[in-house]
Amino acid sequence: MSRGLEGRKLVVATHNAGKMAEMRALFGPYNLGLVSAAELELPEPEETEANFLGNARIKANAAARATGLVALADDSGLEIDALDGAPGVYTANWAEVGGKRDFGHAMRRTHEELSRRGAAEPWRARFRCTLVLAWPDGHEEAFEGSVDGSLVWPIRGKEGHGYDPMFLPDGSALTFAEMPETEKNRISHRSRAFAGLIHACFT
Ligand code: IMP
Repeated sequence: MSRGLEGRKLVVATHNAGKMAEMRALFGPYNLGLVSAAELELPEPEETEANFLGNARIKANAAARATGLVALADDSGLEIDALDGAPGVYTANWAEVGGKRDFGHAMRRTHEELSRRGAAEPWRARFRCTLVLAWPDGHEEAFEGSVDGSLVWPIRGKEGHGYDPMFLPDGSALTFAEMPETEKNRISHRSRAFAGLIHACFT
């Protein structure tokens, strides 16, 4: 049985400004107070699991325990068929350079790896997102979403975050970074997982 969220204060267990901006837009129509783990200066727990659900559970439970609030975590990533599903759960790690995240570097590395393998286009890929809600008493709920598409090179667009400039969702002429946030939020992996959350916790 799902628990309601109406009128609650929710901590979003992320230090990623792009994800947080999307969450604020998605939750806009709902009566809820949102604060991020970054705003509360919570430490980032180590993501030690090998799947999205496991890492989202770690982040959500750490934030719920630290604050006494209901916490929402997003663990997400890009799976590329020609790279046997990589970078997948390690998507953020591919952007690490000298202790910082650089997604220009991550996308170049992805393109180099596709070229090195001689992978034929279209480079099929999908974004996956798992959302976990954790209550301070240990109750949890999880929701999943994905969006299929292909990768483009050179990258296109300046909106969004992460790998958005390289991802062309099926049925669209625009990459995620070329479309307005409202359009991405209509079709993205995150918005699809979010729809499950809203159905469970607001209806
Ligand atoms: P996480 O913070 O460990 O979940 O890292 C997920 C990584 O996947 C992010 O840092 C981004 O690189 C990538 N990612 C997830 N969702 C998106 C998206 O909507 N657009 C672009 N990149 C994304």
